[in-house]
Amino acid sequence: MANVVDTKLYDILGVPPGASENELKKAYRKLAKEYHPDKNPNAGDKFKEISFAYEVLSNPEKRELYDRYGEQGLREGSGGGGGMDDIFSHIFGGGLFGFMGNQSRSRNGRRRGEDMMHPLKVSLEDLYNGKTTKLQLSKNVLCSACSGQGGKSGAVQKCAACRGRGVRIMIRQLAPGMVQQMQSVCSDCNGEGEVINEKDRCKKCEGKKVIKEVKILEVHVDKGMKHGQRITFAGEADQAPGVEPGDIVLLLQEKEHEVFQRDGNDLHMTYKIGLVEALCGFQFTFKHLDARQIVVKYPPGKVIEPGCVRVVRGEGMPQYRNPFEKGDLYIKFDVQFPENNWVSPDKLSELEDLLPSRPEVPNIIGDTEEVELQEFDSTRGSGGGQRREAYNDSSDEESSSHHGPGVQCAHQ
Ligand SMILES: [Zn+2]
Ligand SMILES: [Zn+2]
Repeated sequence: MANVVDTKLYDILGVPPGASENELKKAYRKLAKEYHPDKNPNAGDKFKEISFAYEVLSNPEKRELYDRYGEQGLREGSGGGGGMDDIFSHIFGGGLFGFMGNQSRSRNGRRRGEDMMHPLKVSLEDLYNGKTTKLQLSKNVLCSACSGQGGKSGAVQKCAACRGRGVRIMIRQLAPGMVQQMQSVCSDCNGEGEVINEKDRCKKCEGKKVIKEVKILEVHVDKGMKHGQRITFAGEADQAPGVEPGDIVLLLQEKEHEVFQRDGNDLHMTYKIGLVEALCGFQFTFKHLDARQIVVKYPPGKVIEPGCVRVVRGEGMPQYRNPFEKGDLYIKFDVQFPENNWVSPDKLSELEDLLPSRPEVPNIIGDTEEVELQEFDSTRGSGGGQRREAYNDSSDEESSSHHGPGVQCAHQ
């Protein structure tokens, strides 16, 4: 194992270049478990990288090519087709984007079709209670009349013009000793690489080898699943001749909820109470995600400070695959104070007698100046363009033409 020119794929699996088959397998299993999209939906392409590295290194031929010639060896060894480039450029530098859901080679060397990604919107109720839903989609399946051949057996001929490659390469001489290679789609076969005799063409698929079929998938959204989690239907993507179908991957999209915000397995909500409840105890009811009516009691004598948070243990989201364990529910209290002059001044002094006493006024030495506290709306703060116009005496015709002449006066 001397002279390994590139160790990147070994690094991905965290093994030394001379690693035995067994070591590779062990490393792969451990990492694959850890980064499997079901367990670790945020790991991005890590799982694909691990799979790719293992796919190469567990294949003696590929591994030898890679050891000897590195990335280049694999590129050439693969025959340069089948979308391998995307994985290469991802791992060996280059764009990340083309990598997602693209073609790769399956273990048996057959070309693998693209994965089909579908977002699936789910409510927080669905994720709390679990849900089975049917998803209808249209996909390509091999034509049953011609078994994906496109016509009678023998009817399909390799295109002579492009020798079955679907593209023709033209070489143009720019200057002596300097040529430019240009690829163009073969016009004889429209890039298919093969031609079918008109009379032998399959009537059902018109020689396309595949037909559209409506497929209904039963999707199980399990309790506790999360935003961004994937549900995979292996091999359910478009079929094509000679290609192993990719997967249909549903990507869960959690809809916003009007009462609860989710944070992992915990739920958060805000509840408004009045001053009397904040000081004298309260009881309120809310509907949980499974439609249970939850009664929250807080005894007289205990105080809720504005903005404080109290927790209800075990009323959060169920854990994925362990739904009897639940997170917690955090309730933030928004205490509503009464309006100005809500009670007469003499009643106020009665109230004051009940409230905790004021701090003593400290002795003031030297000059004093009394100032006035004004209402201030922080949302109107400084710098808001529209606001400034209203306060600005020198507002010109421009602003008054926008708002109409009366508006400005009303503010002043
Ligand atoms: Zn057909
Ligand atoms: Zn052709």
